[in-house]
Amino acid sequence: MKTVLITGGSRGIGAATARLAAQAGYAVGLGYRQDAAAAAGIVREIEAAGGRALAVQADVGHPDDVERLFDTVQTGLGGLHALVNNAGTLERQARVDELDAARLQRVLSTNVIGAFLCAGAAVRRLSTRHGGPGGVIVNVSSRAAVLGSGGEYVDYAASKGAVDTLTVGLAREVAAEGIRVCGVRPGLIETDIHALGGEPGRVARLAGSVPLGRGGTPDEVAQAILWLLSPQAAYVTGTTLDVSGGR
Ligand code: NAP
Repeated sequence: MKTVLITGGSRGIGAATARLAAQAGYAVGLGYRQDAAAAAGIVREIEAAGGRALAVQADVGHPDDVERLFDTVQTGLGGLHALVNNAGTLERQARVDELDAARLQRVLSTNVIGAFLCAGAAVRRLSTRHGGPGGVIVNVSSRAAVLGSGGEYVDYAASKGAVDTLTVGLAREVAAEGIRVCGVRPGLIETDIHALGGEPGRVARLAGSVPLGRGGTPDEVAQAILWLLSPQAAYVTGTTLDVSGGR
């Protein structure tokens, strides 16, 4: 049985990916920051369906938490084969001339430092250079990286631009060490993240701007992530797949 570690697995896209990964036969390690009850609920669901899962509280922006997260999952579930670098956050919609340094540090701590720390921790465990079995990393970016999120949260969009660069650079760095590194760029997906921006109904407001005419579901993003994790994507690395209904 392969083990996948999914950061931000307690809700939204991460939770949908956890369910689908368990159905596909992975043992699933879930990281979360604060919502222990939600994370425990996903673990119970997976176990009730006959799968294996483990939830670990860890802030991805803190190096000690990240090491504890990886060690706990590796020990508790036996080995590690893949990482879904999914934990992400944003804050209230604001213009760039309204952003202060404390907010920028919070957003970049989770979305950029967190993604780098988790990627590094995964490479140290997966790379054949370190005696590991090889594996796959999927980074969860956003179409915001390309669209820029003007008038909403350019800080968030820029953090996802950094994630896209991490995908390309790390893929080339570790390609000869048995590790593929890919990404997904979700568009407007129905999750709680929009409420953090102060607009829970954001997907409904913008659905008309999506060529496919609707927001996406967490499961539709999870399907793309599972494909990138799978042997069917064996010749895909350094690629970030848009899952955005054409927007
Ligand atoms: P969500 O429903 O708000 O869930 C976010 C998850 O990340 C939660 O599990 C949360 O844990 C966790 N998290 C946040 N900060 C963390 C930290 N510092 N350390 C550890 N875990 C942390 O968001 P979502 O919409 O599913 O988003 C998942 C990913 O998709 C994010 O990277 C997001 O940027 C990206 N994305 C989403 C959309 C969209 O429209 N929804 C579009 C493009 C990209 P707690 O529950 O414990 O707080």
